[in-house]
Amino acid sequence: MDDRSIGLGRDIHRLFEGRTLVLGGVVVEDSPVGFDTHSDGDVLSHAIVDALAGAIADGDLGTWYPEDDPDAEDARSLGFVEGMMRVVRGRGWELEHLDSFVTLGTVRLRPWIDRMRANVADALGVPAERVSVKARSNDGLGFEGAGEACSATTVVLLRRTGARG
Ligand SMILES: [Zn+2]
Repeated sequence: MDDRSIGLGRDIHRLFEGRTLVLGGVVVEDSPVGFDTHSDGDVLSHAIVDALAGAIADGDLGTWYPEDDPDAEDARSLGFVEGMMRVVRGRGWELEHLDSFVTLGTVRLRPWIDRMRANVADALGVPAERVSVKARSNDGLGFEGAGEACSATTVVLLRRTGARG
């Protein structure tokens, strides 16, 4: 019986002047740009949901939280993380570790990282030492480097705790 599973998630959204940048449920207050999407555009939370769905091999972010769902309008994406983790636990898995990076070249994210970690760990119901969030600038390259978009990539490791759901 398999007692470990991994999942990989990635998300990217465009950035616009005068919008709010939300990452891991944290409002990056000094950012002049932010997301203009159906939900709050929180790419880190979206990548985490995607990774969790991947680890139980059951769809992806869009399967669980469809973009055309009117309830998702202005939704707090960290709530999607909470909901997806409930599904994962219901299937008999616990989160052993999560590692991630957020890529954006034009806003300093490092001062906000600890708050993102704390928020994400809280939503997942695990200690903060099981959650890693890193900031990348992309060395000015590509959409993220130029500040036209912000992306997040996440990997999760699950450990089986109960019966197969
Ligand atoms: Zn997204």
